[in-house]
Amino acid sequence: MVRIDGPSCPHRWPSAPSRSAVALNPGKDQPIETLVINGAECEPYITCDDLLMREQASDIIDGVRIMLHVIAAKKAVIGVEDNKPEAAQALRAAIESAAVGDRVEVAVIPTLYPSGGEKQLIRILTGKEVPSHGIPAQVGIVCQNVGTTAAVADAVLHGRPLIERLVTVTGRAVAEPRNYRVPIGALGETLIAASGGYRGEIAKLVSGGPMMGFRLETDAVPITKATNCLLALTTDESPDPGPALPCIRCGRCAEVCPANLLPQQLYWHARAKELDKVQDFNLFDCIECGCCAHVCPSHIPLVQYYRFAKTESWAREQEKRAADHARERHAAREARLERQERERKAKLRKKKEAVAGGAAASAKAGKAGRSAQGADADKQAAIEAARRRAAEKKATVAKTEQAAQPQGSDTAAASGLPPVDERKGAVLADDPAASRAGSGAGQQRAEPQGAGQPVAEGSAAEPSAAGEKPAAEQAAVGEEPAVERPAAEKPAADRHLARRETAVQE
Ligand code: SF4
Ligand code: SF4
Repeated sequence: MVRIDGPSCPHRWPSAPSRSAVALNPGKDQPIETLVINGAECEPYITCDDLLMREQASDIIDGVRIMLHVIAAKKAVIGVEDNKPEAAQALRAAIESAAVGDRVEVAVIPTLYPSGGEKQLIRILTGKEVPSHGIPAQVGIVCQNVGTTAAVADAVLHGRPLIERLVTVTGRAVAEPRNYRVPIGALGETLIAASGGYRGEIAKLVSGGPMMGFRLETDAVPITKATNCLLALTTDESPDPGPALPCIRCGRCAEVCPANLLPQQLYWHARAKELDKVQDFNLFDCIECGCCAHVCPSHIPLVQYYRFAKTESWAREQEKRAADHARERHAAREARLERQERERKAKLRKKKEAVAGGAAASAKAGKAGRSAQGADADKQAAIEAARRRAAEKKATVAKTEQAAQPQGSDTAAASGLPPVDERKGAVLADDPAASRAGSGAGQQRAEPQGAGQPVAEGSAAEPSAAGEKPAAEQAAVGEEPAVERPAAEKPAADRHLARRETAVQE
């Protein structure tokens, strides 16, 4: 047992929604008025839908009710051809037992190929024309097959997925033609064997009906959900038409086309692989009914050309979509790379700006430091200059005093007085107190007591009590005279120098 609604369900919703899913989801802006059920199994030989309507009429009606609820349609019409009276009767009985009133009805239509086509059946039952390249929902109609309706009832009411279907095995080349309910995926050869195998000479094996079916090269093919018939035809049933002849433009194909197309124009353009032009002639409105090929006197396999053109157009459309997708991805990649490059450059610019700002700050700080050093150097230079000026001034004073020393001696000689040393010695000899005072304070002036004689002032002219030589004596022996600043001048110079140094330092 497997769950059908859980993750282990083998019948997942396909990646691309099925045609029935698309038809049953028209959208909120597309109101549906009528549900059309296709019971017009129009191709010869095929009887599986007829059997389904006779055997499972109640399931079909249940499926119709579910669909009416899903698409919110007002009513449903089941189209059944007049060659299936048992099916129509069974459906009416199921409608009465379901008590759905007049919401569901059975419409019997003439058996006329291809009245089972979707657009053709809608036109027959409702009189509405589905537009070219359009879908029935555009005219307020949803069309479904009776087999799909029964499958919906099985899935919704009985929890059975679509794993089997009815298949008709028929044709004169089959021993016992009959219908089978077979699982999807069963091999065709199994069904042929169940029907007693082949009988007589088989001309061709077809999947589907004689008008719209596909020729099979072998019966070892699986049954799909779209396989409604395996048809084994004899040579009498399907004679070889012979080689195709050129089109004579007789126009018979256009007369019988149920889609009101121009089959000969489609043929010319499809043969020339002019896919754009076949689109201009509404190739995709062709339902591949085969009527044109059936009546063609030149035996041209017209439907084969149309199928080829459709396949090529689909392939080209897929390539175009893939190219568009690749182009969008490339554009997105280019945009992403450009954005990353812009972001990288912006980051680099910010980093450079940050580095430049730091360098400017460092330069500013260095300039300030250099200014401070320059100020210190200026101060030092000013101090040195002040010292030099003080030394020069000191030297000038010394020169002046030195120059004044001989003048004092000459004055004493001219006055007839003894030299100062002699007089001082005499005074010291007469006055011991003065001698003691002179030895204790050499800078004191030694005046003769009561002599009243003029004496040259200045300590430079007097011998120092501490044993210093006079300046003249020092000059005579070649020694540098020790310039002694006047007592009143020396503190003033020092104060002046101190003031200068203080001003420069400030
Ligand atoms: S029926 Fe055949 S021959 Fe006649 S116009 Fe059509 S394609 Fe040509
Ligand atoms: S197969 Fe021919 S007749 Fe049928 S719809 Fe296409 S063009 Fe028309």
